[in-house]
Amino acid sequence: MLPPVRCLTCGAPLGHLYEPFKNRVEAGEDPEKVLDDLGVKRYCCRRTLYTSVAYIEQISKYSTARIIRAKELEKGVSS
Ligand SMILES: [Zn+2]
Repeated sequence: MLPPVRCLTCGAPLGHLYEPFKNRVEAGEDPEKVLDDLGVKRYCCRRTLYTSVAYIEQISKYSTARIIRAKELEKGVSS
């Protein structure tokens, strides 16, 4: 999944905000506060940015689980 270039609902450009938003949320900042800081006011844009980051987090958790599982299989650990 690519970062959203534009808001899916209103079409406002969001591509340049994705990285700063993601980095700050990953660093432990409150997503709501970061969106305020970045000047994302419309709810549709906030939702677009927020869900794209949340979605990628889920995927990366999933890949981590797969990596752990692959290592277990290498070592011959059965389920
Ligand atoms: Zn929008």
